[in-house]
Amino acid sequence: MTQATHSQDPLKFDVVIVGGGMVGAATALGLAQGGVKVGLLERAEPDLSWSDSEPYQPRVSALTRASENILRNLKAWQGIEQRRAHAFVAMRIWEDASDAEINFDAASLNEPNLGYVVENQVIQAALWEQLQTAGVQVFCGHNLQSLRFDNHQAWLSVEGLGDIQASLLVGADGAFSQVRTLAGIGLDQHDYAQCALVGCVRTQAPHQDTCWQRYQANGPFAYLAMDENVSSIAWYLPVEKMQWALDLSEEDYRAELFKASDGRLGDITQTWQRAAFPLTRRHAQQYVKPNLALVGDAAHTIHPQAGQGVNLGLLDAATLVDVLLQAKQAGEYLGDHAVLRRYERWRKGDNVIVQRAMEGFDWLFKSDHGIKDQLRQVLLPLANVAKPLKNWLIQQALYGRNPLPALAKKPRR
Ligand SMILES: Cc1cc2nc3c(=O)[nH]c(=O)nc-3n(C[C@H](O)[C@H](O)[C@H](O)COP(=O)(O)OP(=O)(O)OC[C@H]3O[C@@H](n4cnc5c(N)ncnc54)[C@H](O)[C@@H]3O)c2cc1C
Repeated sequence: MTQATHSQDPLKFDVVIVGGGMVGAATALGLAQGGVKVGLLERAEPDLSWSDSEPYQPRVSALTRASENILRNLKAWQGIEQRRAHAFVAMRIWEDASDAEINFDAASLNEPNLGYVVENQVIQAALWEQLQTAGVQVFCGHNLQSLRFDNHQAWLSVEGLGDIQASLLVGADGAFSQVRTLAGIGLDQHDYAQCALVGCVRTQAPHQDTCWQRYQANGPFAYLAMDENVSSIAWYLPVEKMQWALDLSEEDYRAELFKASDGRLGDITQTWQRAAFPLTRRHAQQYVKPNLALVGDAAHTIHPQAGQGVNLGLLDAATLVDVLLQAKQAGEYLGDHAVLRRYERWRKGDNVIVQRAMEGFDWLFKSDHGIKDQLRQVLLPLANVAKPLKNWLIQQALYGRNPLPALAKKPRR
């Protein structure tokens, strides 16, 4: 890790990235591996240590094939596999109000699996391990104080570091992005009035390498396959029940999870740390300005029921890297608005489609005992037997929409 060396001269980079979460670290790596001089500012230094008895973390991601490709191309996949990752081969989605069910199986769709469930901490650590090799200069624990854009450059004033100057500033600092606020970029948002409680649990019955999702009037409940008889849960509740769910005694917690899952995997026999998050859809009104780009949750957050958030963020990272490396090769200026607009045009449409699809799901599955119940009872069984439709759905979910950025394509052996 680079230590602070305060001097009169500003630190100079081609690109400076604020936020070293999964998306910021992927952006930094992709650019540095392409020969760009990158600085990365992260508020909290992540813990890269690992032991096989590491307790299961509450935050996990279901990674698509596109994300797997990105992480393989960035040489971070090995670090993930060395720690902990679990491939799932099926998904079972069903709803309470009727017998309606839709199932996806990797084998019948000619896929080796339908994705991997990986703890966020594992993904971040595997990316960080590669940062030094790629030559990224990392600064941890320094507060960004102010920001200005002047003379075709972004200027950051950073506590303990002084000024940092770069052709391009990338905001990868999450849903409450300070960069987005300081740059004066507005936000469209919608409060789902729901929260998600997450954590890992051991169940009596095996998960069969399957992700299970039950829809009920209150919101969905999901089991994501992790390890032998261990699954990560996502339990969606009205937001006013968040504290209640966090405060449940161990015995009551297990009993409530059994109820919420309809006992699909039997009793809960062990639990690990739980965490809960209120859910809000956010979309930055602009992803770019001259000398500035936003990626990942800094640009958009969506309802996590289909597990797409970080997958969209990694596609942002891969696309920005693609656009910038092509611009570099063509001798264009990395902070140029016209260059950055290529990234925005490429990603914004996709992100809007996925956000809206999640809204559609939410609307359809919020029971009103009327037309929506009937619609679901017709649509789900129909979708379940329509193989071309299922194939198309899984292709979109696993690979993303064409054209794909280079990093999201299958790595060459
Ligand atoms: C309950 C839940 C379940 C989810 N499940 C899934 C799933 O299954 N699949 C999926 O794809 N997505 C899922 N998501 C979404 C996913 O977690 C996010 O999209 C993802 O974490 C965003 O990554 P990011 O790197 O953009 O932001 P973050 O993970 O928020 O990282 C931002 C980083 O910036 C740092 N930072 C913040 N401010 C500053 C600052 N001022 N200076 C320096 N550093 C700063 C932070 O310390 C952090 O490291 C889920 C979300 C929730 C809430």
